[in-house]
Amino acid sequence: MADPKERFETIVQKLRDHGHKITPQRLAIVGILAKSHGHPSAEDIYDLIKGDFPTMSLATVYRNILLIKSFGEVLELGFPDGSNRYDGNKPHPHPHVICIRCKKIVDPDLDSMDIMKKEVAEETHFKILSHRLDFFGICSDCMASEKA
Ligand code: ZN
Ligand code: MN
Repeated sequence: MADPKERFETIVQKLRDHGHKITPQRLAIVGILAKSHGHPSAEDIYDLIKGDFPTMSLATVYRNILLIKSFGEVLELGFPDGSNRYDGNKPHPHPHVICIRCKKIVDPDLDSMDIMKKEVAEETHFKILSHRLDFFGICSDCMASEKA
């Protein structure tokens, strides 16, 4: 995991560099994305901060996420059901492990990704620019509660 404080400062600086105003709402959204604990959805972020900003809408949260995504500072994990999740802590492509029960998403630390990328490039003669690799399963919390 990257240092959330460093990620926070990097994202805020990018917003400044692109001439965007640094509002308290924006800082609150960036703060959550910098940690991206559990890979939040836009609704999760909205729920976390709406108490502090009662006039803020979910659409504002979406707009800010898209803005930060346009600078390449947040990774969007799209799902067919539209329940997109975000990682602003590690904005570059990386594999994920997804619990099909509680929808928890974690980052495995894999040494084999670089090897796999090289293998794919060699076999297909593609220049690989990005990748998406998701593992689906049942997390240990959900396994424990199923046994109980
Ligand atoms: Zn689970
Ligand atoms: Mn991640």
